[in-house]
Amino acid sequence: MNWKDYPYDFELEKITAQIKERGARRVGLQLPDGLKTVATSIAAEISDTTGTEVLISGNSCYGACDIDEKLESVVDLLFHFGHTDTFFLKTRVPALKEKTRTKVVFIELRSSVDVKPVVAKAVAEIKGDTVGLVSTVQHVHALNEAKEVLARVGKEAVIGKSRDLKYEGQVLGCMFSSAMVPCDDILFVGSGTFHPAGIALYTDKRVIAADPFTKQLNVLEADALRKKRYLAIARALDAKAFGILVSTKSGQFNPDEAVSLARKAVDKGLNAFVIAMNDITEANLLGFKLDAFVNTACPRLADDFSQFNVLSKNEFEVVLGVRSWESIY
Ligand code: SF4
Repeated sequence: MNWKDYPYDFELEKITAQIKERGARRVGLQLPDGLKTVATSIAAEISDTTGTEVLISGNSCYGACDIDEKLESVVDLLFHFGHTDTFFLKTRVPALKEKTRTKVVFIELRSSVDVKPVVAKAVAEIKGDTVGLVSTVQHVHALNEAKEVLARVGKEAVIGKSRDLKYEGQVLGCMFSSAMVPCDDILFVGSGTFHPAGIALYTDKRVIAADPFTKQLNVLEADALRKKRYLAIARALDAKAFGILVSTKSGQFNPDEAVSLARKAVDKGLNAFVIAMNDITEANLLGFKLDAFVNTACPRLADDFSQFNVLSKNEFEVVLGVRSWESIY
């Protein structure tokens, strides 16, 4: 596939200008897994236009916090697609102890798709008069258009400030502060259920997810999601041996928290082992003889796993009896 066939702004002019300005002779490309199909066409374009060597990251890329640091350490510039730099600048602790931070250039991948049709379709699902409007960086620039569509049918839209992220109304799968606005329902403009499910749990509000690409709607109720998580906690109450998972990806690396959780479990007479790995997948965990896992990395893990029971830190503390059920969400 050619990058020109996709409805995203790959900012090839900015990339070329950066390479020339910084005198880069070797650059890296890191794309989200769903866009690796265009990696070779972007690499060819950059190489033809600038004469620079291009190295493509073949590793998984989970999100804004996941910089391919090994690749970063051997290139002059690393172009990281699909996320903003705010999160990275504030929180990343390089796993490789090198001064490489300024090498990363974020290409936000703004979408050119029209959000208005799916927002108009979503109106039928909105019960209240006031709506919180949120999105990922791909559509966040279009939230004002969404707001106008809602205003035309008498709905007041609120686009909240984010505590940690670059744009108003922007969310990540682990950061939802812009959704904490006074409103009846929340309208998430974007794809998938990971972000809207997290928002529903975080805000305790009904979330209407409107996908501008497929024009599909999905309504997520906090109660139903909470019940699913309570079930996961209940299943873990009989577990005797836990694996505490640590991701070695730079922005998710949290060994101290994992060790502290393992200690708490041992204090309660349970077995707990800290397991560190780069890609935490079910396939990579198959060999371990454990009853349940605790995730200290990206919250998405719990969604991706079907064979193993995976709990968050707070959920695990409920299992250990050091936190109340009511306090997790
Ligand atoms: S922890 Fe997960 S949701 Fe949060 S920024 Fe990283 S990849 Fe995204």
